[in-house]
Amino acid sequence: MRGSASRAQIAEGTALSRATISEITAELRDAGLVVLAQAPAGSTRVGRTPEHLTLNPATGVIVGVEFSHTRVTVVACDITHRVLGSRMLDHGKEEPWEQRFTTATDFVGQLVSTGAASFPLRAIGVGVPGVISGRAQVLAALEQRLTEHYRVPIRTENNARLAGLAEFSWGAGQDMRDLIYMRLSEGVGGLLIIDDEPRLGNTGSAGEFGHVCLDPNGPVCRCSNRGCLEAYVGMGAVLRRAGAASVEDLVDALDRSESRAHAVIADAGARIGLVLANACSILDLSSIVLGGALSEAGEYLVRSVRQTIVRHVNAGIAENLKIQVAQLGSLDGALGSVALVLRDRTIPVGARTTSATARDERGRTA
Ligand SMILES: [Zn+2]
Repeated sequence: MRGSASRAQIAEGTALSRATISEITAELRDAGLVVLAQAPAGSTRVGRTPEHLTLNPATGVIVGVEFSHTRVTVVACDITHRVLGSRMLDHGKEEPWEQRFTTATDFVGQLVSTGAASFPLRAIGVGVPGVISGRAQVLAALEQRLTEHYRVPIRTENNARLAGLAEFSWGAGQDMRDLIYMRLSEGVGGLLIIDDEPRLGNTGSAGEFGHVCLDPNGPVCRCSNRGCLEAYVGMGAVLRRAGAASVEDLVDALDRSESRAHAVIADAGARIGLVLANACSILDLSSIVLGGALSEAGEYLVRSVRQTIVRHVNAGIAENLKIQVAQLGSLDGALGSVALVLRDRTIPVGARTTSATARDERGRTA
């Protein structure tokens, strides 16, 4: 639930009866989880304005952490999804995990001790790159470190997938039930949402678009296989081929119509488009969000991706094809870590737990 809503609006959004919503919201108000909100500005309704309800921001703070290959990002939000503060630090690819933990722990400490986040810390979500099952040691060490400092529930997930969850929860994909999200940064990953639910797969690695093979004889990838998408369109490879020092440089070169930059982006878009076309055909999906640093190339990239997809999918998918660029910028992974916690019904993010918090409510909660 974002912002405020009347009971009638909540009933409409959840397909539950108004009587049920009244009962649930009364319980949530008793528990201090929900409070009355100001009616939205511009409300011109004649007669009695219905009460608007909102989640109670004083309930607590959720912290989201993202470790990407080259950056530590930490964001603090209240449970109404309002960002209270954030911290970010770039580092080299070889930065030891121990040092990354120290950076993150310091940032969490700074954010939860500032006036902006004066409510109690309730939970921490953490995103890490790569397949989660391959990060067991790192995650155990991190969890131990965070638990020593903050005795709250900690949840972890792949960072690219979390960036997709953030876009799905409150970014470019928020009105969709089905979504293919691809994150194009140093690493390439993503998230599949089908029928309103993130799909994780049997081993929790669904959405690893970066390691789809385009050419078994292609260049060696970070994962040690050959010809993976990431080996061609990972940020490092793209910048090297374009002769650009940064994404900003690359976008400047595109704006100046430099042919080398355009050729590199057209090639990257075609490869990305091929993988997405196959995903669209297999899953019969047509809504795509492109995120990560490379998505800053915007329409230059989208044009090439779209052309390739349309060439390879059936007419029905092509007709409904919707490709958007992500909206949440560089906080996306950390915000996704917050969304992960808010969607987790085993974490009571409340003043006190009631039967209502555990009730199986329909609809999205984050
Ligand atoms: Zn690979």
